[in-house]
Amino acid sequence: MTIQADQETVIVETFINGQYVKSLSQLAKENPANPTEIVGYFPVTTKEQAVEAIEAAAVAFKTWKQTSIDERIMMMRKAIEKIRAAENEIVYLLSREHGKPLYDAHGEIYVSLMWMEFACNEVTSALQEEIKTHENGKTILSYDPIGVVAAISPWNYPIALSTIKIAPALLAGNTIVLKPSPYAPLAAAKVAEIIASEFPAGVINVVHGDADVGVELTTNPHVTKIAFTGGTATAKHIIKAASETIKDMTLELGGNDAAIFLESFDVHDERAMRRIVISNFLTTGQICMIAKRVYVHRSIYDEFVEKYIEAANRWIRIGDPFDSNTTVGPVNNLKQKNVVLGLVEDAQNRGAKVIPLGQILDQKLFDQGYYLQPTLVLGCDVHDPIVVEEQFGPTVPILPFDDEEQVVHLHNESLYGLTSSVWGKEEDAISVARQLEAGTTMINTAAVQGLDVRFPFGGFKQSGIGREYGTEGIRTYTEKHVINVPKTLDLPYIPE
Ligand code: NAD
Repeated sequence: MTIQADQETVIVETFINGQYVKSLSQLAKENPANPTEIVGYFPVTTKEQAVEAIEAAAVAFKTWKQTSIDERIMMMRKAIEKIRAAENEIVYLLSREHGKPLYDAHGEIYVSLMWMEFACNEVTSALQEEIKTHENGKTILSYDPIGVVAAISPWNYPIALSTIKIAPALLAGNTIVLKPSPYAPLAAAKVAEIIASEFPAGVINVVHGDADVGVELTTNPHVTKIAFTGGTATAKHIIKAASETIKDMTLELGGNDAAIFLESFDVHDERAMRRIVISNFLTTGQICMIAKRVYVHRSIYDEFVEKYIEAANRWIRIGDPFDSNTTVGPVNNLKQKNVVLGLVEDAQNRGAKVIPLGQILDQKLFDQGYYLQPTLVLGCDVHDPIVVEEQFGPTVPILPFDDEEQVVHLHNESLYGLTSSVWGKEEDAISVARQLEAGTTMINTAAVQGLDVRFPFGGFKQSGIGREYGTEGIRTYTEKHVINVPKTLDLPYIPE
């Protein structure tokens, strides 16, 4: 693969059964920092091609499921090495098509490879057959592959949220059809192709498009599992679409993650202040697990806000994603920029105070791209849209609270429950954390800074169903098959 830093136009194609399939029409992917620049083209996969991809995966599954785990690990490790060797090229492409700064794009590859390595190291023990002999005979529990997995990923972490599915699905003996998001299709497709080059034809297939292709993936009877990461509204369509054929599903959805600062939090701790700013604005705030609403104990509120603004103005440098000084890039797409702008304007109309944060490094670039200056929103009501909805962009409301009971209630009344964080003296923070309805709660840090791929990740309530990462993130790609050999073959209560 040869991708250059800023010149080459990248073309990806639908990839079925180890072959590129020419498409009749293609869409352009622009650079969000400079929307007149075309980064590359991706195809509009037709319904017929999507069906072909699914059928190729179904045929490949028949032989792929017979391979040993050792063989699969060997192939995956070779793919990991190839990704590592191509890291710089992938990072440039990701940064150009997505808008995330280079360090952040490197971070995405770092997390992707960490998980892929973990999955390789863990899969043998995770899928080890369990044999139990007991007073009533013998029981064997095996973890069998499910079949064809439709993997549908979002635009915000296109590589990490594709490999989080590809690695465990393949290692567990499944085949896959991946559909990246049309808002960031290029780098994810390239990484999928690198992985595919180490696996037999048909084991990984890549299709492109949006809901049209998504509907085929979620209704086709050959697909037995859907692994979806994206918005809660889309997941509702997927659940309905899949209901006719009752598919297994892992759904990783939206979040409205709260960060709670207790009375015991030290507002003079500059490292902690920097961590919360990063937890709000990394990837321009476009992360499912970013801290999206901040509650601060009233006794430290004023000083907290003052220190927060200082820390934010130090860390946030909005600029060219290729400039090493930049910490915050543009929003990925115009639609998302307008969603965030709408929420900020609505808060302002309701009487909130909006404070711009950080420095703009290049005003000309800022004006031409999908940039938004990060903002802090003060004086909101706890039920204002900017507080209760997922803003998924560079703005954050900070609100005061009076006691633990109140803040736990505010946290838990949300429809979402992905991650949360509690900041302050460790034992106080853990005690509050235990009361929160969230898949992960981090203490004195938040967002990706507190992510641990060795443990299951997912959401309570409308933030999702099932878990990725950890041993569970591997077993979720299996059916649990029990083979029972009872000693007592006839039940005593059934008459002769
Ligand atoms: P989205 O739901 O708009 O799109 C996600 C994917 O679904 C895309 O590939 C899209 O093309 C596809 N899609 C759209 N309609 C479909 C349909 N009817 N059937 C099948 N597929 C369809 O989400 P997005 O805007 O790409 O991503 C942002 C959302 O993802 C946010 O809500 C964010 O919180 C969430 N997210 C969650 C996690 C997590 O782990 N919980 C991680 C990242 C992002």
